[in-house]
Amino acid sequence: MTLFKCNGCSRKVEFLWLDQLDTPEGFKAYQCTSCGAVGIKNIVDAETVPDSEVSRCIKCGDWQFRELPCHTCALIRSK
Ligand SMILES: [Zn+2]
Ligand SMILES: [Zn+2]
Repeated sequence: MTLFKCNGCSRKVEFLWLDQLDTPEGFKAYQCTSCGAVGIKNIVDAETVPDSEVSRCIKCGDWQFRELPCHTCALIRSK
């Protein structure tokens, strides 16, 4: 079992990946098995990334790599 960071509930939970949904580059659709939230997940959370390399975006609150621009904010801007 692989745990991921959920923005909706506890910090690390198991996700179901909804591969049938189209998602932008760098994102995957998921459903949280804990709170049931469905959303688009930044792949930063899908990979096995050490906590030391990720942080929460100060703008949107999603997880991001410390050294890279926030994927979620980039997606919001592109809409
Ligand atoms: Zn959740
Ligand atoms: Zn952001």
